[in-house]
Amino acid sequence: MNCDYTGFTDTHAHLSYLKDRGVPLEGLPEALAGGGFGFILDIGTDAGDIEGRIATLSRYPNVRFATGVWPYSGQICRIQENADALEKNLTSAPPGLIVAIGECGFDFRENPQEPAEETAFLEMQLTLAQKYSLPIIIHSREAPRRTLETLRRFPAVRGVIHCFSYTKEEARLFLDMGYYISFAGNLTFKNAQPLREACAMVSAGRLLLETDSPFLAPAPWRGKPCHPGMIAETYRLAAELRGISLDNLKTLISANARALFALD
Ligand SMILES: [Zn+2]
Repeated sequence: MNCDYTGFTDTHAHLSYLKDRGVPLEGLPEALAGGGFGFILDIGTDAGDIEGRIATLSRYPNVRFATGVWPYSGQICRIQENADALEKNLTSAPPGLIVAIGECGFDFRENPQEPAEETAFLEMQLTLAQKYSLPIIIHSREAPRRTLETLRRFPAVRGVIHCFSYTKEEARLFLDMGYYISFAGNLTFKNAQPLREACAMVSAGRLLLETDSPFLAPAPWRGKPCHPGMIAETYRLAAELRGISLDNLKTLISANARALFALD
């Protein structure tokens, strides 16, 4: 793969998974070290993962971190323990490195049996987002209504619906609540017409793009491990859908990410 990283922003990646899955780095460390990649937000899925991520990635000037717990059924019953661990992450990390809470939310495909537990678990993380004035990164699969209802109870919190997978009507409801909408490589999938309609419609100031690497490689590589360099495909399609140039889209996404995550 021939990667050009210049000016791209990836608002959702799991960089520490790349090595475990044998994803070739394709010059990524050099691009990160030289500031070639605009900005990458490295996302947490477990309260205990932050230390290792910061140890290996904080040397790169354009990488920042989120800490949060994915709605694993083994975790959602352990609210207090996870709240304490996340709070410790937030108070002990070097200042400015952790810029968001997440990812967290609902996955009714993986775990449709425990909606009440998933709700309480997300509420715990929304409470932390409110307390520390940090944006939240929401994972929401097959649970648009429950997600909206829960986020509405925390009107002071803002954030992003990552890897958006709903319709433009649902996008409108999240936008009305002040949330950003982020599209991943599945935007390029053949059957993703509703996503493309949503991507064309999202207000310019609330649009974000991501890889969710190593998951969700865009169309030419669908099913393969996703590398952050593949984000170029998602950008190309989003620029086409919105009728703007690739350079203007890079500038827009960078400005939006900087605003949401309060980067200087
Ligand atoms: Zn993710």
